[in-house]
Amino acid sequence: MKLNIQDKFNKELPADPNRSNTRRQVFKSCFSFVDPAKPTAPQLIHISKEMLEMLGIREEEAQSEEFLNVFSGKEVLENTSPYSMCYGGHQFGNWAGQLGDGRAINLAEVEHNGKNWALQLKGAGETPYSRNADGLAVLRSSIREHLCSEAMFHLGVPTTRSLSLVLSGDKVLRDIMYDGNPAYEKGAIVCRVAPSFIRFGSYQIFVSRGDLETLKKLTDFTIQHFFPNIRPGAKEAYTEFFKEVAERTLEMIIHWQRVGFVHGVMNTDNMSILGLTIDYGPYGWLEGYDPNWTPNTTDRQTRRYRFGQQPAVSLWNLLQLANTLYPLVEKPEPFQKILDWYQSHYQEAYVKMMSQKLGLEKITESNAKLISDLVEVLQLSETDMTIFFRHLADFSKDTELSKSNDFLDFIKEAFYQPEEVKDKILEQWKNWFIHYQECLKKETLTDTQRKELMNKVNPKYVLRNYMAQLAIDAADQGDYSVLNELHELLKRPYHEQPDQEKWFTKRPEWARHKVGCSMLSCSS
Ligand code: AMP
Ligand code: MG
Repeated sequence: MKLNIQDKFNKELPADPNRSNTRRQVFKSCFSFVDPAKPTAPQLIHISKEMLEMLGIREEEAQSEEFLNVFSGKEVLENTSPYSMCYGGHQFGNWAGQLGDGRAINLAEVEHNGKNWALQLKGAGETPYSRNADGLAVLRSSIREHLCSEAMFHLGVPTTRSLSLVLSGDKVLRDIMYDGNPAYEKGAIVCRVAPSFIRFGSYQIFVSRGDLETLKKLTDFTIQHFFPNIRPGAKEAYTEFFKEVAERTLEMIIHWQRVGFVHGVMNTDNMSILGLTIDYGPYGWLEGYDPNWTPNTTDRQTRRYRFGQQPAVSLWNLLQLANTLYPLVEKPEPFQKILDWYQSHYQEAYVKMMSQKLGLEKITESNAKLISDLVEVLQLSETDMTIFFRHLADFSKDTELSKSNDFLDFIKEAFYQPEEVKDKILEQWKNWFIHYQECLKKETLTDTQRKELMNKVNPKYVLRNYMAQLAIDAADQGDYSVLNELHELLKRPYHEQPDQEKWFTKRPEWARHKVGCSMLSCSS
């Protein structure tokens, strides 16, 4: 296996001079060198072919012992120096001090076809940032990360990727319910891939310690390598940098709201500076449309990171980043302007995105009302977001709404309690459809043209929480068929896949309250 290694992060930025693997506070350094732990009996269980191609690795090479050894942490690639990154972060709104890669180890950076990729093992053992944890990951959370990052990519959502999923052969102790009953689970290692894993918290840590020198080095490095539109060293470079981070973040959040993705832990250490979805922990997908839903049990009380709150939280996180970059600029106005822009532009971008989901080309006042009304109606009775929007494409603008009582039949599969949808609720649906039809009639698209456009933004297949759990339950028994099937399915989320209709259904009732299917805990 010949990788074109072009390390920059660990060559150009200040390294922790301490090379031991003891847990500690690390100062004035962006990372610490650390070797992955050697797994007992690594076994490759899944590879993303698309990622192999992106990295220039042939399929035969991926079957080699070398591949397994490198991507399980057993062997370190020649001429590389693996490292864990130092960062801090606000967790659930509070400054948490140094966090860092407690279980992530960057192997190397690879250049292929003009693109640069950092390869990072997650769950490959202790690092100086492991604090009171073990540096490991379990099979269930690794499957969730591997499947979801690739699914998000194919949905068109900016995200980190996942190359491989390996069993370590080691057992990992976890208290899954936090109730004092820990049990051993299979350990696993995912190789995540992204242009960079730098987070908002990577900058915050330096400012929290008054270390503006390292802050500047890291910011200059980021601009130079990842923001080609900004001229490094220019007077405005830092505010331009902040503006672009805000733009990228906004785009990511709009995509999350479009597909019904709830991240679950939007702490500032989980916000990528490149606007990528990063750190797939207790994430989830909206099934019944509910802006108050969060999959994260740790956040059950305040629901800080609930679906409907994601835009506001991203703004709060950007405000923290603005405070962090402020010492490089020493003027608050440019930051304030960008934060104000974020708020107003988010509204515009949201209405545009929702209009597309509804198949409307024109953006009018009336659309904004139609959208806010829809958000209300969707919550009158539990309504599956994915199924609703997919079936909505079958609506005809010539339907005779006033006469018909079965006008909702074409979306009835989206209702979890169809018997509830009568009387007042039915009336409200009818009013909404009358308004929708009026909006559609003002447009020039035919029903067929509109359907085609809508099916490009309303996915048919998403990684529902219970689907990931089925893959996990089977994999735990050594059966990887569901994992393979879902990985294939989710490569074409917008396509009709007639032999896969079984995955286009509402969440089954058994999954409503099952652990892993509806609620998940933080790091595991
Ligand atoms: P997360 O909630 O996954 O974003 O993690 C928050 C922090 O805890 C990060 O610094 C992680 O590296 C660290 N962390 C999470 N799980 C582990 C683990 N099993 N071992 C060591 N550090 C961990
Ligand atoms: Mg994290």
